[in-house]
Amino acid sequence: MFDVLIVGGGMVGASLAVALKPLRLKIGLIEAYNFGVVEQPSYDDRSIALSYGSSRIYQGMGIWSKLRSGVESIQHIHISDRGHFGAARLEAAEENVPALGYVVESRVLGKLLYEELDTGEIELIVPAKVFGVEQDADSVQVKIERNGVADTLQTRLLVVSDGRDSGVREMLGIGVTRSEYHQTAIIANVTTAEPHRNLAYERFTSSGPLALLPLTEGRYSLVWTHRDEDVEATMQLDDAAFLHKLQEAFGFRQGEFTKVGQRAAYPLVLQKAVKEVAGRAVVVGNASHALHPVTGQGLNLSLRDVAQLAEMLAEAARQGSDPGAADLLAHYEELRRQDQQGVVRYTDTLVRVFSNDFAPLGHARAVGLMAVDRVAPLRHWNARQGMGLRQRQTRLARGLGLKV
Ligand SMILES: Cc1cc2nc3c(=O)[nH]c(=O)nc-3n(C[C@H](O)[C@H](O)[C@H](O)COP(=O)(O)OP(=O)(O)OC[C@H]3O[C@@H](n4cnc5c(N)ncnc54)[C@H](O)[C@@H]3O)c2cc1C
Repeated sequence: MFDVLIVGGGMVGASLAVALKPLRLKIGLIEAYNFGVVEQPSYDDRSIALSYGSSRIYQGMGIWSKLRSGVESIQHIHISDRGHFGAARLEAAEENVPALGYVVESRVLGKLLYEELDTGEIELIVPAKVFGVEQDADSVQVKIERNGVADTLQTRLLVVSDGRDSGVREMLGIGVTRSEYHQTAIIANVTTAEPHRNLAYERFTSSGPLALLPLTEGRYSLVWTHRDEDVEATMQLDDAAFLHKLQEAFGFRQGEFTKVGQRAAYPLVLQKAVKEVAGRAVVVGNASHALHPVTGQGLNLSLRDVAQLAEMLAEAARQGSDPGAADLLAHYEELRRQDQQGVVRYTDTLVRVFSNDFAPLGHARAVGLMAVDRVAPLRHWNARQGMGLRQRQTRLARGLGLKV
């Protein structure tokens, strides 16, 4: 019998498993793909903006120093609205932090997480797929298929982190609310004539936000949102025409765009599980909340969920109590509700207010951006929201290890 069984070894499930390593619990991680294979959907060409708060969570887990050489820091953020006056600037120095955030390629993060998992504390059940879940008062029975053979594993707590289209969430009978943005993000790494100097851009355009995140080796990571109907045409452009179109949308603040790498497209929706707990199972990561990537909040929010759950499981382990107990899970869900609802509202409002050609809204946005630029408390609020510092600070979020 496992104490904790995690389904899904993407960025969220793997981060939770690493966080739980020091606990005296029997922990397993089930993942459909072998570690390091290109098919693994979580560790693709995407880059992730980790907030300063997330860097502290990884520090608390003891892995930040190992990740540090593979990340680039964000010292300055420039926010603007195409076709309208006004811009806002956020500065790490003004917030008294070493960086507003860090940018890491998801493959680099994945490689480190798997190295950390491969040290014997966690039982890795890989590659294996969950195809059924049943539960009674004392345990969850998880049916898996491994190398063509069916097996059943038992656990006191099941953590479901199998992604946005979570099959296990469905098996548990947990529904979702979903709203379409009719937008798709095109991602690619690009190079500009001017060095990035650790400056990130968030530029709102009528078709959706365009972000440039400073990356290692002098590159920028581009996240460029398009209306669904325009994606195919942009994806089909040759590199020169793509760079020309990007230059038109972004302007010349970084000089000319000189190079673009492999492109990929991600259709965007807002999806939220109607509840996170069913019996002895709890849903986390994209399985619980999948957001628009504007201001890069999705993984950062999930890492705060991970930090909270890990702290509560550490406490249960110390007291020898049941990690799947109903009151523990209900308390977890309650503690995380406000942050989750706040981030969903924040990202959804930004997308809907800024992806709009309605003229009066354009003027209001210009006033809003100028206010953020000139009014220190507003600037500070936005910076702290982005850095993940406005929420309850768990031990891991303070950069401290779990109490074992
Ligand atoms: C374009 C884009 C840019 C983004 N940028 C940022 C950013 O800058 N900052 C940020 O914080 N967030 C960002 N995000 C969000 C971030 O990518 C997600 O929050 C994160 O990937 C969610 O990871 P996950 O582990 O929950 O799910 P996934 O990555 O989907 O992982 C799920 C895992 O479960 C496994 N699995 C599925 N079914 C089964 C099964 N039945 N049995 C066993 N295993 C199974 C899969 O193989 C997979 O490994 C971005 C998202 C997009 C689309």
